[in-house]
Amino acid sequence: MSQFAERHIGPDARETDLMLERVGASSLDDLINQAIPDGIRMKRELNLSPALTEQEFLQRVGGIAARNEIFRTYIGMGYYNTFTPSVIIRNVLENPVWYTSYTPYQAEISQGRLEALLNFQTMVTELTALPMANASLLDEATAAAEAMIMMFNTRSREQVKSGVDACLVDEHIWPQTRAVLETRAVPLGIKLEFVEVSNNLYDGARHFGAIVQYPDSRGEIRDFSGFAESVHSLGGRVAVAADLLSLALITPPGEWGADIVFGSSQRFGVPLYYGGPHAAFFATTEAYKRSLPGRIIGVSKDVTGYPALRMALQTREQHIKREKATSNICTAQALLATMAGFYGVWHGAEGLREIATRVHKQTVQLQRALENKGVKVLNRNFFDTVLFGLPKQLTVDALREKLLRRKINLRYFDDPTLIGISIDETTSESDVQELVDIITGMVDETSVNIEDFSEDNALEKQFIRKSAFMEQEVFNSYRSETEMMRYIKRLERKDISLAHSMISLGSCTMKLNAASELFGLTWPGFTSIHPFVPIEQARGYHELMDELRADLAEITGLADVSLQPNSGAAGEYAGLMVIRTYHESRSQGHRNVALIPSSAHGTNPASAVMAGMKVVVVKCDDKGNIDVEDLRAKAEKHSDELSCIMVTYPSTHGVFESSILEVCKIIHQHGGQVYMDGANMNAQVGITSPGIIGADVCHLNLHKTFAIPHGGGGPGVGPIAVAEHLKGFLPGHTVIDNLRDGISAVAAAPWGSPGVLPITYGYIKMMGAEGLTKATKMAILNANYLAVELKDDYGILYSGENGRVGHEMILECRKLKAATGISEIDIAKRLMDYGYHAPTVSFPVHGTLMIEPTESESKEELDRFVDALKAIYAEVKEVEAGIADRDNNVLKNAPHPDRVVVTDAWEKPYGREKAAFPLAWVRENKFWPAVARVDDAWGDRNLVCTCEPMESYEEPTETED
Ligand SMILES: *Cc1c(COP(=O)(O)O)cnc(C)c1O
Repeated sequence: MSQFAERHIGPDARETDLMLERVGASSLDDLINQAIPDGIRMKRELNLSPALTEQEFLQRVGGIAARNEIFRTYIGMGYYNTFTPSVIIRNVLENPVWYTSYTPYQAEISQGRLEALLNFQTMVTELTALPMANASLLDEATAAAEAMIMMFNTRSREQVKSGVDACLVDEHIWPQTRAVLETRAVPLGIKLEFVEVSNNLYDGARHFGAIVQYPDSRGEIRDFSGFAESVHSLGGRVAVAADLLSLALITPPGEWGADIVFGSSQRFGVPLYYGGPHAAFFATTEAYKRSLPGRIIGVSKDVTGYPALRMALQTREQHIKREKATSNICTAQALLATMAGFYGVWHGAEGLREIATRVHKQTVQLQRALENKGVKVLNRNFFDTVLFGLPKQLTVDALREKLLRRKINLRYFDDPTLIGISIDETTSESDVQELVDIITGMVDETSVNIEDFSEDNALEKQFIRKSAFMEQEVFNSYRSETEMMRYIKRLERKDISLAHSMISLGSCTMKLNAASELFGLTWPGFTSIHPFVPIEQARGYHELMDELRADLAEITGLADVSLQPNSGAAGEYAGLMVIRTYHESRSQGHRNVALIPSSAHGTNPASAVMAGMKVVVVKCDDKGNIDVEDLRAKAEKHSDELSCIMVTYPSTHGVFESSILEVCKIIHQHGGQVYMDGANMNAQVGITSPGIIGADVCHLNLHKTFAIPHGGGGPGVGPIAVAEHLKGFLPGHTVIDNLRDGISAVAAAPWGSPGVLPITYGYIKMMGAEGLTKATKMAILNANYLAVELKDDYGILYSGENGRVGHEMILECRKLKAATGISEIDIAKRLMDYGYHAPTVSFPVHGTLMIEPTESESKEELDRFVDALKAIYAEVKEVEAGIADRDNNVLKNAPHPDRVVVTDAWEKPYGREKAAFPLAWVRENKFWPAVARVDDAWGDRNLVCTCEPMESYEEPTETED
């Protein structure tokens, strides 16, 4: 096995033997034979290239980066060059505390990233001039789809009754946004009308809303205020795709009637990465705050009244609402939103205005210089883009040819007489002069000096932003690098990440994100490639993606892979759309029933509904397995309309069900397809595969199984793998010529988020077939070791036929609660006092904790975790025995921040030492939660999702709504 694999895997040979002995297995293979049914085992090794050492990999991936060619690129279209401030690269992007942390469900140990995301939300509300914003969506195009769906779902009763189902969309919207809107509209029965919008085209009897772009895809800034007014008067809503940087200079849509403003925050310091990952933003008015998709960070307080942040309105999420959910988004783009938020903190309003002004001024210079030479510029009011018509003496081919030789990319259109140039933060005066020289030089061989045209602001009056923005303290405090570095550090210290201790979140696979895998993230060969450059300029990326797709196809046992979906849930949606289109292609379009086991992850039913399917829930038996008889009955009942089953394997209960082959057979017999949720691939790689089991489609969460870090809630990559008969239906992309087949796009960028793919590529290349297979086995050993250690106290909810769990297990807490009132949440919060992040709480079974250790944790760490859980168990027993008070005890009062422990007035019925240092080793690496238990309900009743002055906490006013 490769040395890298040995270092990726936590336990060494000695620890492995000790653990095998403890679980009562004679060897690792013996354990695997007990855990995994023989009928689905892979009978050969994975066919992958030999494992590389870390040095070999760095050389390989360095060569790949070098085969991407960096041109000066002025394509625009929602993607711009930007300077990522070094202080953010070094302290955030390359800092494992920021990139390895999880989605901040456990608020008390996540206050740092919650504050960073609150900064992002605040910045978005300030720039857009709308009061509510979320903490990111996947990309601009899917944000447009979320806007469309939100307007559709919030139609008035009369609109629903009279069948108002059309959305008016301005035709001057990015083509990729248009494509994703088209994909997402069809299954929901939404009709899209793409037009050049004007007041008289909006028809209140047909349209529920309108979507426009500002500045539009031609770079033109249009006055939509009259349009918005007329839409409102007809009971409709207006959603606006906006450029965040432009809003520092131009009137924000919130001031002229927008109900929703969305777009990409990429140019706020997030590299191009050949398309992603980037954070989309989404803002809306008070009226729609409870319909806002995605995660919202809200301000609340802890039980001591101290200000505390947490994710708000969790009850609207798909985990709770399932098939009634209005959005399937789960993993978003937290790390990128964090970076964009810090970019705002670093520059402040003043800095942003300065950058925007420079961009605009250079665009004006370019426009004036071109016009001076008789080149006709078509836009009148613009921010950063000029669109010009080619002079007669010039052909687009000649110009393109010449520019390519000078390593310059402009935007070319289907209409060969048009050319677009978008200026960005990195454009210098000499860059602009060079463009002018080349273009005008081809017209009459003379040029002009751009310095002759140095107007700062060429906008018509009504477009100039007059309102102040970002006046909050946080955007005006950190101008020196010392202060900025310390601010980032201050936030970082409030968060538990993998840099502190094991994060045992079941279903989330928080494994090592190795340093070598991540190096490429800041290499210019990967960062500086625009998604719509000619493919020849991205040869490195394509080499990497082709190999990666082949490796993932081999690992899943399926025929082909699309890397386009940006998250697991986006993969689910893409996979279901593939199935839907496949049925349609065989004149079976009426097949629209998705069978989904009751234990499924909440995104499954939500994605099925987004894909226009009807969800039929299949029961699970008391052992946690799919109730095969119920499945058979339901498949029979819906035989004619059966589209697919969505099944997770091993099940979300952490068990390799031996009935899985039978399940697949039943579905196929009734003409359905098997969709496998691949979130649990960490228990399959090298040992079995979706292909062997009988799946037709599966998604993978590269941010779980394949080492991409979670980033505090994103980025994610959710590729889908499909069987041979579905290859032709994989997602295409309208902007890229050779990607025009298949279903229409599910993401803005043709290959989703290529920027983070070197991580998964590195993981597979350095692990090799043997290492990957060993990792799977060790993940299963680690889980079974924990199960054996914990089963006598808590009890393990489900196990397979031989009493073994898969790579995760469910810890029973319900009996304890019945006896003592101590709940799984109390246990989760108490773990923080011991320095641990909680396991997954109340999923997939209420009243339980789901633990997944992964292969990366050593026996030593597992033992500490067991110690902590056993000590907590003893604390619960003290309550049961009446030694500790039922309501006032270490568990109910957990976690204990230093502020609470270090006081002169300590009135708890237990000692401070027990509160803060419950076990000896806790002292050595003490993590102090920043706040005490957070009051979720209070925050939801008083929803605030922007930075507020501290004073507002002193006299909270309780408002019900
Ligand atoms: C994580 C997960 C998902 C959703 O993946 P995202 O990337 O968060 O969208 C779906 N199903 C299961 C079982 C999961 O664990």
